[in-house]
Amino acid sequence: MEVYDLIVIGGGQSGLACGYFLRRAGLKYIILDDQQQGGGAWQHTWDSLTLFSPAEYSSLPGWMMPKSEKEFPPKQQVLDYLIQYQTRYDLPVKHGVKVTDVKKEGGVFLLTTSQGDYQSRSVISATGTFQKPFVPVVPGNDLFKGQQLHSAQYKNEVPFKGKSVLVVGGGNSGAQILAEVSRVASTVWATAKEPQFLPDDVDGRVLFDVASAKYHAMKEGKEFKSSEYNIGNVVMVPSVRDARARGVLKARETFSEFYEKGVVWPDGTHQQFDVVIWCTGFGFATDYLRELGIILENGKIECEGTRALQIDGLWLVGYGSFTGFASATLIGVGRSARQTINEIIEFLNKDL
Ligand code: FAD
Repeated sequence: MEVYDLIVIGGGQSGLACGYFLRRAGLKYIILDDQQQGGGAWQHTWDSLTLFSPAEYSSLPGWMMPKSEKEFPPKQQVLDYLIQYQTRYDLPVKHGVKVTDVKKEGGVFLLTTSQGDYQSRSVISATGTFQKPFVPVVPGNDLFKGQQLHSAQYKNEVPFKGKSVLVVGGGNSGAQILAEVSRVASTVWATAKEPQFLPDDVDGRVLFDVASAKYHAMKEGKEFKSSEYNIGNVVMVPSVRDARARGVLKARETFSEFYEKGVVWPDGTHQQFDVVIWCTGFGFATDYLRELGIILENGKIECEGTRALQIDGLWLVGYGSFTGFASATLIGVGRSARQTINEIIEFLNKDL
């Protein structure tokens, strides 16, 4: 069986950014992706999703996302951009290949996939978070007879027309889904902590600048004075501003348990709901690395930068703060990808 120098698992924005820096590296490599077309998780997010930064702040290395009609590009534009990016740089993505298992034997990684086995001297795991929705454990969950879904499954407000809906989670997805569903349904918003809203004139650009400043300060060993803005704060996109104007953007504390018809609030009051939408974030989709014995809680793996600390030859790109500041954003992943490819070239040269 041929042995690759590098296999990248995942062909979303993170895998593509790695591919960009691999173009002139002279390595024998391939990108494996379980979807039938490009675009990664963006294929599956809800219909009305728009970015929280303008196109020039949402671009991968080498080629700027074309400007959008409105200030913030819609999801379809991101999808088109990623598909064109893959073609533009002729990146070797093999679609429809799901990696189910990775082992390491005699210095070589053995990958089991839905389309046969592969071998490689190094691996980048770039499989994102979308396939690992997180839902907290709440007592009585199995008693509740209504519908429960995660934001990863939410497409639009249509199925919820006229229903009573509980939206759980105080981040951007919670705020945006609440804003949309509340136009056709009666909604309650429950959040573990008081949601933090950015000022109306502050968007994802500022969050990225803050993340960058933190990155550079830490790299240079300088103290970083924490900002009033945080990457998890709610960006006041037009739909969320509209929800505020309608008076529905009000959060209450989260519930303590389920009962058959709804939830029980901490003061003991019962409230009926038809639907609960969990906007409670994601873990990391690294289950296929389980045989390596290095997976921590929620799929996290101990890394220095993007390099896995406990397995030589393995890197993780694009998962968020544990693999580099803002690495789970379109503009942020380029920095992680460049550094990763430099390290891999060094690793493979040493190995010869
Ligand atoms: P993904 O896009 O998930 O790509 C990973 C790929 O790997 C997928 O194609 C997946 O199917 C595949 N895969 C997974 N497991 C396997 C396997 N075992 N074998 C083979 N293939 C596999 N970022 C911004 O910059 N701006 C924004 O405004 C913004 N808004 C967001 C809004 C929402 C609701 C969400 C969820 C994210 C948003 N992000 C935003 C964050 C970020 O851009 C995405 O999370 C991004 O999709 C991460 O890219 P990725 O390539 O790391 O992962």
